Amino acid sequence: ESTWEHVAQAPPDPIIGVTDAWRADTDPRKLNLGVGAYRTEDGKPFVLQAVREAERQLSADPAENKEYLPISGLPEFCRLSRGLALGPTSVAIQEGRVATVQALSGTGALRVGAEFLSTHLPPAHPRIVYLPNPTWGNHKTIFAKAGFQVREYRYFDPASRGLDFAGMTADLASAPPGSVLLLHACAHNPTGVDPDAEQWGRLLELTREGRLLPFFDMAYQGFASGDVDADAAAVRRFAEAGLELVLAQSFAKNMGLYGERAGALSVVTRSKEVAARVESQLKLVIRPMYSNPPKHGAAIAARVMGDPGLCALWKEELRGMAERIKAMRAALYDALQQRGVAGDWSFVLRQIGMFSFTGLTRPQCEQLVSKWHIHLTLDGRISMAGLSAASAPYLAEAIADVVS
Ligand code: PLP
Repeated sequence: ESTWEHVAQAPPDPIIGVTDAWRADTDPRKLNLGVGAYRTEDGKPFVLQAVREAERQLSADPAENKEYLPISGLPEFCRLSRGLALGPTSVAIQEGRVATVQALSGTGALRVGAEFLSTHLPPAHPRIVYLPNPTWGNHKTIFAKAGFQVREYRYFDPASRGLDFAGMTADLASAPPGSVLLLHACAHNPTGVDPDAEQWGRLLELTREGRLLPFFDMAYQGFASGDVDADAAAVRRFAEAGLELVLAQSFAKNMGLYGERAGALSVVTRSKEVAARVESQLKLVIRPMYSNPPKHGAAIAARVMGDPGLCALWKEELRGMAERIKAMRAALYDALQQRGVAGDWSFVLRQIGMFSFTGLTRPQCEQLVSKWHIHLTLDGRISMAGLSAASAPYLAEAIADVVS
């Protein structure tokens, strides 16, 4: 008898499960709208030219080797990452009060950040994190594993398929002081709904008044608008207002480095001395977890960000990805209009980033899968990146059928 006889079968991951079902589907019309990764017009993964060129340079560089990185990662990568997020004129960076460590993409940054907070928040602060409802599924588990009590704030309004700002602010106003407030920096996953500039201003005030600690998850910088600076506006505004904050960055989507696991965790503090102590403690979190991060993805990202030519090429390609996604929103909206599908679908145009939260019910989603071979998560989220000019009308036809 096995030692593990009592071990129960774990449920499959809901998102990875969608891709498995799509792969097993033999219908030629099949579509994968579950995956959170960019696809070309032909439905293929996309390796950016800037990344290919950086890899070519790296492999030709005799100074490159396979030695371990420091515990906190590649210093140049950390420096460039926080610069990308906080901007070229960041006072916090100029004053040296930002602690940054390389992380295993966005997930790893969140996990190390949560662990650090759990250990080092002042003892009198509650270990409570406020997450938007809904949010990226992994957030809950990440913070729960780090010992946080997880609470939700209202976010998505199903009626308008937009932001429930009144609900959001009411929930945050009642959060105990010292609670951690998780905010999606841009391109909220899964809803595609972001606060506007005025609402961000109000959120900043609420954060300050309620003495909440903002933790920005920035998994889509540049992917929302096509412009890395525009997409960082909220984070920069909080930092420039003098707030302390935590920031998780990922290069999975905006540089297409998914499997390379390139990301960063920054803690913006009030002084250089505090930042140095925080960084020393972040290393103590990392060392017993995985010792030090992988080199290749960070080396690529550092080359791309650090070389003016490659950086310009990257930003152009990033804009191209964002533009294609916006074009798919327009194509889907037009096709829905042409079919006269009931209801107001203008939210498809308004929502931002990779995903659209359609409001389709679970039975409707199940029908999309079984009858139309369109694979998606059953919460009604569709990845706009999985659409093409050819498949958008097919999706509209299928939606028209399941909502009728
Ligand atoms: N945060 C959000 C909101 C995401 O959507 C994702 C990925 O889908 C991540 C974090 C983490 O991604 P990764 O660990 O691949 O960088």
